[in-house]
This record gives sequence, structure tokens and C-alpha cells, in this order.
Amino acid sequence: MIGKIANLKELQLSRPNILFIMSDDHASHAISSYGSRINQTRHLDRIADGGMILHNCFCVNSICTPSRANILTGKHSHLNGVKTLGDHFDGRRPNVAKMLQADGYQTAMVGKWHLGHGGDADPTGFDYWNVLPGQGLYHDPVMIEPDGRKTHKGYTTDIITDFSLEWLQNRDRERPFFMMCHHKAPHRPWDSDEKHADMFEDGDVPMPDNFFDDYANRSNAAKDAKMRVFGHMTERDLKIDKLGPPPEGLSEEEMANWNYQRYIKEYLRCVASIDDNVGRMLDYLDEDGIADDTLVIYTSDQGFFLGDHGWYDKRFMYEESLRMPFLVRYPREIQPGSASDAMSLNIDFAETWLDYAGVPIPDDMQGTSLRPILNGETPDDWRTSMYYRYWMHLSHHYVPAHYGIRTDRYKLIYYYGEALGTTGSVDESKAPEWELFDLEKDPNEMRSVYDDPAYADIVAELTQELYRLKAEAGDDE
Ligand code: CA
Repeated sequence: MIGKIANLKELQLSRPNILFIMSDDHASHAISSYGSRINQTRHLDRIADGGMILHNCFCVNSICTPSRANILTGKHSHLNGVKTLGDHFDGRRPNVAKMLQADGYQTAMVGKWHLGHGGDADPTGFDYWNVLPGQGLYHDPVMIEPDGRKTHKGYTTDIITDFSLEWLQNRDRERPFFMMCHHKAPHRPWDSDEKHADMFEDGDVPMPDNFFDDYANRSNAAKDAKMRVFGHMTERDLKIDKLGPPPEGLSEEEMANWNYQRYIKEYLRCVASIDDNVGRMLDYLDEDGIADDTLVIYTSDQGFFLGDHGWYDKRFMYEESLRMPFLVRYPREIQPGSASDAMSLNIDFAETWLDYAGVPIPDDMQGTSLRPILNGETPDDWRTSMYYRYWMHLSHHYVPAHYGIRTDRYKLIYYYGEALGTTGSVDESKAPEWELFDLEKDPNEMRSVYDDPAYADIVAELTQELYRLKAEAGDDE
């Protein structure tokens, strides 16, 4: 009996801790490991330097609430019940935290939940949870625990880290942990703290080359979208109250640059606070002597437009919005300073964690464990295409619902023009449209070649593959 207990203890200790740090709307091109031209993130880079960076990690639905459900369930939106921002995640459903918890992990969820609150929408599968209601606030946030709401003084990115560290310090050291530490930042309304208020005071942040995009040679979807930094940002987005109005007498081009600078600087100040706080988490792992035993992941719920195509926000299947940062470190297995271009998805995360934890992976999860990728051994039959679907037809920024397929080289997108009764969509039909991008020749997606006869065979092939993937995913709408 004693031998059995010793073995059990050994098993518990041989399984890695899993620290999953996720921010909200943090695009990979605002991380120095990804070659950012606009900022430095030295603590996030510590994860990449000590482990692996994934260059092609994509979300299957580029919007906050759905991506969180994709991650928790390992399933596409049409199967986990969360297609749109208006859907809540039903806590009675299976999720990865429940599976890890049932197998001996101690589990915690701190920060932005954004999958609903109260009754069946509260977090389930967590020994400890302390979350922001809805979007949450940047300063003096209200947070919800099982026993009610409390207001906390301070900056939310710091506070989420404080609660995460407190739980880690008080954890049961005989068992591995699974922690989801979810920052609200750098989601709108970008609101930096005092510590970073003076960053970028001197000089301009470089603009993306396609900031003054004229949206020619593409669908009407891009042209009609109301998400331009210069044209659609509100006074609140531009922090006029907090940081003051623009100077008078600016030309149109100067005004566009002023909007961009106001937006990007405040966004990057919020990112800087995340970076500092990730540093605090990494320092704790070092001080506690558990850095080697902990799988650390940094990601964001989706990408974001940082002035690319003149835009802010996400939703579109275009690269900046589709791509998620994914930095991972686990010294016992993952080679420091390594990188992979293998196509990975947010529905892979749950299976990856179960794989590391030695917990059986349910047959109905739709991703694949990334463990071989992270070990530098991409299987010969690894996926070469991915299925994407955004359901919130014409809501918020007037982006039409669409689905599509991305391969290494091409991206085919279909804007099908209908709301299909989804929560939060606008019941307005729009003419269906297709786009095809050749990412090798046109990495910034400035010219759809869908109607170019030279691509007719590619269109036929990809259309077939798109509907094969859609059917395989079980999406029959
Ligand atoms: Ca988000």
C-alpha cells in the first residue's frame, strides 16, 4: 500500500504543471520574438528563448468569447455552443479543466473569463476561480468569486497576476497544477497604467505599409467594414477624455497618423504591463524551483489589426486577425530557442494539455496534440489546411459572416451573406462573395485572385477541400 502511494505521488510529480497565460487581442506582430517593428517584450521573449515559438498558430473563429470556448473544449464553435459574443458557455458541458481536475490536477482560473456568469455559465472544473465580469475594467476592477463580487484597488493586469501568484504560493505542492491566467489587456478601451504612461513619448511608432489601404481588388467585405483607425474610432477609443484632443489644423494625412499614434501607443503601453507581469510569473517559477517542471504558454485569444489595412479589431480571416501568438517553454522536453511553422490551432490546446498530463483524450475533441510539434518532430501526416468560421454577421464593425480554408500558400474565403439566426448578428442579407489570396506572392492580402483564370484550378481544388474540411468538422450550416 505504501509502495502504491509512493508511486502515485511519483506519478503526480512527474506530470508537468501547466501555466497558460492568455491576453486579449494581443497580436503576434506586437511581440519582439515575432519580429515586432514597434515594441520590445523582453519577458515574453524569455518564454520563446527558453522554448519554442509557433509561427503558424491560428484561431478557428477570431473573436473573444468563441475562441475561449474553442480552447476549453477542443471543439469548433458550432459544436461547443459558442458561435458568437452573445452565446454563453454552458458549464455543464465537458471542458479540459474538468478533465485535468478529475485526474488529480489542482486547477485555477484567474482574470478574464468572458463566457458568461451566473448559473450554468460560471466557470466549472476549477478549484479556484476569480474572474472579471464580462469585459472587465482596466482600473479598480470588480471581480467575481464563487462567494460574490469584490472590488479591488489597482491596475487590473497587476491584480490578475497578484491573485495568480497568491494561489500558486498557497497551492498543494504534492500535485501538479493547471492555471489559466487570463489578462483583460490589451483589449479596448486601451487604458495604460501610470508606470507606462510615458512610453513612446518621443517620436512616432512606425505605421504598417498598408495603413492607407484603398480596399481595391478585394471583396466588398473589406471595403464596407467599419473598423478603420482613421474614420471609425470613437472619441472613447481615442482616449480624448484621458489624453486630450488632437492639435488643431492637421491635414487629413496628419490626422490619420495622429489617430494611429494615439491608438498604437496606448495599446503598446497596455502590452508593456502584460510583459512585466509575465516576467513576475516567470520569476516566481524560477524562485520556486519549478521552471523545469512547468509547461508555460503565452498566447492571446486571437490576433488583431494594428493599423494593418488601416484597421483595428479582428473578426476577418485575414492574417493579422487569424494568427495567434504562441510561445511555449518546458525545459524537460522542448528545445530552447526552437521554432515551428507547423499549422496549429486553438482547438489543439486542450488535447496538448491532456497529452502532457497523461489524461486520455476524448474522441470528440477536434484538434490534435501539439506535443510532437513542440518536440521538433512534425508528423508526416500533420494537417496542411485549416477550417475557419466567423458567425457574427454584420455586427459591430459590419464584418460579414464567413468561412474559409487556409493552406500553407493559399487562403479561400466565402462571405455567404446571411445571419442564419446567430445571436448578435444583423438580419440583413448581403451578396455572397469569394476571395482567394496567394500568400506567397501577396502576404499582406491586398489582391484577391479568385477571378484570375490562372488560379482556376487552385480555386476548384481549394473549394473541394474547404467543403471536405467543413463536413469533417461537422459543420452542416
Ligand atoms: Ca479578444
